[in-house]
Amino acid sequence: MPARPDRQRRKEMLDQWKARERAEARARFPLPSNQLRALFAMLEQELTRHGCDHSLRLVQHWLAASGFPREPVETWLRNNGGRCDCEVLANVRQAWEDAIHDVP
Ligand SMILES: [Zn+2]
Repeated sequence: MPARPDRQRRKEMLDQWKARERAEARARFPLPSNQLRALFAMLEQELTRHGCDHSLRLVQHWLAASGFPREPVETWLRNNGGRCDCEVLANVRQAWEDAIHDVP
């Protein structure tokens, strides 16, 4: 056995670390992943039509209409760089995609 991890071993360790990061990110999702997908799809559609008014107006409307609690979702969105509807689409969707990309 080599004294230091070889290249392959380092890659495995990095992959494991990244997989753990993604699992932890998924554990912090405030809603099931399919609901987050629906939220991003709604934002994409509505922002194309109406644009962003620098608030979470569309998100809040969708949460109320879907019967989801507002506070945990908004906290999670802000923690992931989503302080308004267009930032949710630009930043949080990317974070969500990164976190689920190894989930079948
Ligand atoms: Zn915006």
